[in-house]
Amino acid sequence: MTAGQGARDELYGRLKAYEGRGAASAGVGKDLVNEPMIRHWCEAMGDANPAYSGPGAVAPPTMLQVWTMGGLSGHTDRSGAYDELFGLLDGAGYTSVVATDCEQEYLRPLRPGDRVTFDAVIEAVSERKTTKLGTGYFVTTRMDIRAQDEPAGTHRFRILKYRPTMAKTGRASREEPKALRSRPVINRDNAAFWEGVAAHRLLIQRCTACDTPRFPWLPGCNACGSPEWDTVEASGEGTVFSHVVMHHPSFPAFSDSGEGGPYAVALIELAEGVRMVSNVVGVPCDKVRVGMLVRLEFLRTDPDLVLPVFRGSEG
Ligand code: ZN
Repeated sequence: MTAGQGARDELYGRLKAYEGRGAASAGVGKDLVNEPMIRHWCEAMGDANPAYSGPGAVAPPTMLQVWTMGGLSGHTDRSGAYDELFGLLDGAGYTSVVATDCEQEYLRPLRPGDRVTFDAVIEAVSERKTTKLGTGYFVTTRMDIRAQDEPAGTHRFRILKYRPTMAKTGRASREEPKALRSRPVINRDNAAFWEGVAAHRLLIQRCTACDTPRFPWLPGCNACGSPEWDTVEASGEGTVFSHVVMHHPSFPAFSDSGEGGPYAVALIELAEGVRMVSNVVGVPCDKVRVGMLVRLEFLRTDPDLVLPVFRGSEG
């Protein structure tokens, strides 16, 4: 052990003391095991196993955690131990979190009508580890799940609570190359679109058989199947149809500062009637709103790449 590990171990000792402490006790599933949730899961997963439908159906075992989840309204059965542990880690600079893996053990099938109850315990805290994301501690929580008070399964969930590598160095140092956006994949079907962008023109395909505009570029018309097309140049007027703000993981190339802060990704409805995914610039990402008027501009992200983006305006 080196001298530098002393402080680390002091924190580790405090974290380790949480092993065995309850993270949730006497939790009760918000819904009974039920057929609609099973059906939605199977449809989303593409799982057509006949065991999961009809008379005598069981729930897919991998749904185990579903029956314990708090949903948008959250949990009321959490103990303070987990929050305290996270507070210790936050206070020591391990402010980021990423889920790394889970393990499940199935002890009894769950069937529609089962009432699920559960307890969770902080099972293990690892020593300080260095990963590509940064250095931090793995925390394993074990949830014991019962149905009608019989053991039904165990769900182990592991997270890494870490100090991001970016936070240590702050703004990318001058010696580090600027992070670049990934390159578009250009092929015969979309080459003319990217040629247009390079010339600061946003071209939309239009079917010459039925006049339907389309975006993104495709070899045939979705409306009539015709392979014949020409293009119309977008006026540049648009509105935000939908959007998300990307917080994590950080991609330095996507933020103006180069530090990987949050940025807005929006589905823009163009005046010509097609929609495209792009970035909204010129307004803080938390001010982007559905319906916001935006205007096309071209952003040179680096010497080899120009992208169409949309400038929003507040108010
Ligand atoms: Zn057509």
